[in-house]
Amino acid sequence: MSRIGVFTCHCGENIGATVDCAKVAECTRSVPGVVHSVDYKYMCSDPGQTMIKEAIKEHGLTGVVVAACSPRMHEPTFRAAVAQAGLNPYLCEMANLREHCSWVHEKGEVTTEKAADLVRVMVEKVKHNQPLHPIKVPVTKRALVLGGGIAGIQAALDIADAGHQVVLVEKSPSIGGHMSQLSETFPTLDCSQCILTPRMVEAARHPNITLMTYSELEKLEGFIGNFKATIRRKARKIDEKLCTGCGLCIQKCPQKKIKDEFNEGLGNRTAIYVPFPQAVPNKPVIDTANCTFFKAGKCKVCEKMCPTGAIRYEQEDELVTLEVGALVLATGFKVMRTDKFPEYGYGQDPDILDGLQFERLASASGPTLGAMKRPSDGKEPETVVFLACSGSRDRSKGVPYCSKICCMYTAKHAMLYRHKVHHGKAVVFYMDIRSGGKDYDEFVRRAIEEDDVQYVRGRVSRIYRDGDKLVVKGADTLQGGAPVEVRADMVVLATAVQSQDGSEELAQKLHVSYDPYHFFAESHPKLKPVETNTAGIYLAGACQAPRDIPETVAQASGAAAKVAALFARDELTREPVVAVVNRLPAPQFSYCVGCFLCQSACPYQAIEQEEIKGRDGSVLKVVAKVNAGLCQGCGTCVATCRTKAIDIQGFSNEQIFAELMTL
Ligand code: SF4
Ligand code: SF4
Ligand code: SF4
Ligand code: SF4
Repeated sequence: MSRIGVFTCHCGENIGATVDCAKVAECTRSVPGVVHSVDYKYMCSDPGQTMIKEAIKEHGLTGVVVAACSPRMHEPTFRAAVAQAGLNPYLCEMANLREHCSWVHEKGEVTTEKAADLVRVMVEKVKHNQPLHPIKVPVTKRALVLGGGIAGIQAALDIADAGHQVVLVEKSPSIGGHMSQLSETFPTLDCSQCILTPRMVEAARHPNITLMTYSELEKLEGFIGNFKATIRRKARKIDEKLCTGCGLCIQKCPQKKIKDEFNEGLGNRTAIYVPFPQAVPNKPVIDTANCTFFKAGKCKVCEKMCPTGAIRYEQEDELVTLEVGALVLATGFKVMRTDKFPEYGYGQDPDILDGLQFERLASASGPTLGAMKRPSDGKEPETVVFLACSGSRDRSKGVPYCSKICCMYTAKHAMLYRHKVHHGKAVVFYMDIRSGGKDYDEFVRRAIEEDDVQYVRGRVSRIYRDGDKLVVKGADTLQGGAPVEVRADMVVLATAVQSQDGSEELAQKLHVSYDPYHFFAESHPKLKPVETNTAGIYLAGACQAPRDIPETVAQASGAAAKVAALFARDELTREPVVAVVNRLPAPQFSYCVGCFLCQSACPYQAIEQEEIKGRDGSVLKVVAKVNAGLCQGCGTCVATCRTKAIDIQGFSNEQIFAELMTL
């Protein structure tokens, strides 16, 4: 016999101003099974919770309905209160009188009647609720960090320093990411590699970090605390243990004219190469697409030169399986490229560069060793035009968002140019200057006031070559749209920050949400900025949205703190709202007929096959079984099963029908 208590909350004015809560409480008293019904201003307050606890004891309640706000906000609060009074917490349900009633209707009798209906529905559900118990799952205390840029390095170091094992996976041959390509960083103008390389070395030497460079995630299975990751270790074609990094193979490789990715195409590399001098690990890889031996079956100079016999032409990719408890996504960004700017001649004229190319030009480790030489003829550029917002905030380019870092790095580029070419002229075209950040506005002012950079507010409509010069045509919107023409030797476009190639596929592989621009989406924009909608997968850096270095590092430490908090526990507690295959008293009489339609429908691979054996050990039947650790309670299997053999605990067919029959 059910003895249900109903507690109707005014939620201050939120519900009370629209719904007659006293009347709801009064109507509910006559519902069969309800033995106690009251209303109160704030049920979630301490006195409100005490009221519930005392009523459970005093009236011997077997179920509780709290008619209040969204269960998303306060269900844990009320379930905890109910548990403190000795009742199973899953015998407490919430009727949402706020979002489902008072916030969406006008004050009036009909609104109050609807509120009373919502309560009645929930009373019927609670009558059919069963006590449930949280699911305990073990935690594998090893983290996988995907991406070896500054975000991944920081996250890996923080997790490792907290005493946990980390596997840092980077797809390119070295860790370091875009930060290793930068010349100097704003707003302090300190050398990017000087501050990054110690961290790269620290990551490589840390006893708790395993580096897997030139590797990619192939597959991820499992759930929070219990993931199984398959990593593809691409064949470097060398034995890393034997290679000493002496570089003789690189010096002698005859294939020397391959476009150098690290220098953004401004220099060349060999077919066997290390991406940059401070690479970690400092071991070469053979680019088989450009190696003479792999293309024509001849050469093998590197093998002859190698003093340790480390070359392995026959080496194949290797698949490695790892058990990990959490994953940090730190796969970074790319900059908009190529044919997106036909009006500016990008990609056609060698003296029109993007921001990353300018970084390599200005870098002491770059193709010109930091000397300011324009790519077409190596001459020192006398006038350089910098275009902020190239592609960003421009719907026609498919990027309506602000790339956030371009205003700052454009100011930095103009400054670096002026520091290298003292007599040179730097002109910046901009839309607005967005310099929010510590010392950022001062930095831009310094470019204008101390380094004499000329800022023109306006868009550039066209760039074309006229002999030795690039003609930049624009309008100065602060001068009433007056035409501006600058004859420049070099133009630098601050092209938009975009999501990394392959982000969409990776997000789908990991069941992580992503936005229309394929940046990974956080679970909640304000309260869960580093979590994803898949428990145990966290975000760090520009894979989520354009970010500068300080923000990236802070977010990486935030993600690492989440992982460390997860690893502080030996077991995880999960809500028991998962699917179950209903069993009749004897398992061989299960409703399940073993069609396994549910198995192919389940998006989380949570359905397994179970053999039902007879006394003699023979297999009587193969039926579905739900892995409660993997199941996310989505209900797809319930909708798929034609024999109604599966239910979601807490949302059985019986409960749903009971609710509907009330109305
Ligand atoms: Fe270079 Fe390939 Fe020849 Fe080795 S075999 S030296 S990588 S071209
Ligand atoms: Fe490594 Fe051999 Fe090349 Fe030296 S010559 S860097 S040992 S592969
Ligand atoms: Fe088929 Fe239903 Fe059994 Fe799944 S639970 S195997 S869908 S009968
Ligand atoms: Fe899979 Fe969803 Fe069914 Fe769970 S409820 S077994 S996640 S289909």
